Amino acid sequence: MGVFNHPEFDHHDSIHYFEDPASGLRAIIAIHSTALGPAAGGCRRWTYASEEAALTDVLRLSRGMTYKNAVAGLPFGGGKSVILAAENAPRSPALFEAFGRAVDSLQGRYITAEDVGISVDDMRIVRSETPFVSGLPQSGSGAGGDPSPWTALGVFRGIEAAVAARLGRDSLAGVTVAVQGVGHVGAHLCVLLHEAGARLLVADVSRDTLQDLLEHVPAEVVAPRDILFSDADVLAPCALGNVLNAETIPRIRAKVIAGAANNQLASAADGARLAERGILYAPDYVINAGGVISVAREYLGNSTAEEVRSEVCRIPERLQQIFADAANSARPTNDVADELARQIVAQRGTGAHPANPTAGRLIA
Ligand code: NAD
Repeated sequence: MGVFNHPEFDHHDSIHYFEDPASGLRAIIAIHSTALGPAAGGCRRWTYASEEAALTDVLRLSRGMTYKNAVAGLPFGGGKSVILAAENAPRSPALFEAFGRAVDSLQGRYITAEDVGISVDDMRIVRSETPFVSGLPQSGSGAGGDPSPWTALGVFRGIEAAVAARLGRDSLAGVTVAVQGVGHVGAHLCVLLHEAGARLLVADVSRDTLQDLLEHVPAEVVAPRDILFSDADVLAPCALGNVLNAETIPRIRAKVIAGAANNQLASAADGARLAERGILYAPDYVINAGGVISVAREYLGNSTAEEVRSEVCRIPERLQQIFADAANSARPTNDVADELARQIVAQRGTGAHPANPTAGRLIA
């Protein structure tokens, strides 16, 4: 299948393919929109079933970044990259150097950072080849570092807002939350939920990751195939996308779905399926914007960690507005959020932006 007739193609600005035989790099960078600024979005390293699957992922993820950055009020467009990793392929510095050169060749139209399968250390290597990167180690009290704790904080505050809206409870004490995936974001989220008095059900396909979590937080372990259907008040998907679909939704028992994973809905119609079942869905790119708020502020180089915190803590306000608009107009929350994002892009967008002039002032 070509790109222009791909079902997930949404008039993306450009799609770029890179190969570096010496390092084994095969990557796709998708720039969905530069209407609000340079396209910002993380890099995912994943073993895809096919090149087609990688393209589908990067097309959807990059559009999600346009919406996420717009609703979060950031001066950035949307883009994303995927590195196609062979099964058990070693991670080498040469691979991330080659990826850095690929990013650099776009001359600032795309700014990268961490996503699934990528660490702060990997981004340091990318930084050796290009200034168009964020999510680097924090320096002093400035914004920066691993975005996952900020994502987790935003999701936690979003769960509080969703629980108040759907269950009428002003505290998470005694609320049962099922967390699918306890990696970087999921583990931080579990700590915050535990501190707030929530009861945790957790699942992860990695035994080591689960074991790490259980050393810090008490939780009941559920099999990965069962976690979505747990007897919980809240379901927090924090693994990969497409988990909310025609097969899973009829079996979900939680009244609230609020988690970090990108592209939780397999399709927009699945948002309507959730609404029909009375399940309140916190749109993923609204609730999980904490990380991009941190990397954006780091990139712009003008914020402290405290300022990032107060901006992340505005995520519940945005969700409350979306929940209220959805209730008043009897529409699914994902439709309301998508419309809001498109309106912001149309109103604030001024067409393609040049590379961010602050790029050269990045933290080393
Ligand atoms: P991660 O790779 O650190 O964690 C994901 C975890 O999910 C891993 O431990 C993995 O073993 C587990 N997992 C995978 N498939 C599973 C399954 N079927 N059942 C149970 N567990 C499974 O990734 P992360 O950085 O924590 O990100 C999690 C999700 O949140 C991703 O969708 C990512 O795109 C999204 N997200 C992350 C950030 C961030 O700041 N890291 C920001 C926004 C969105």
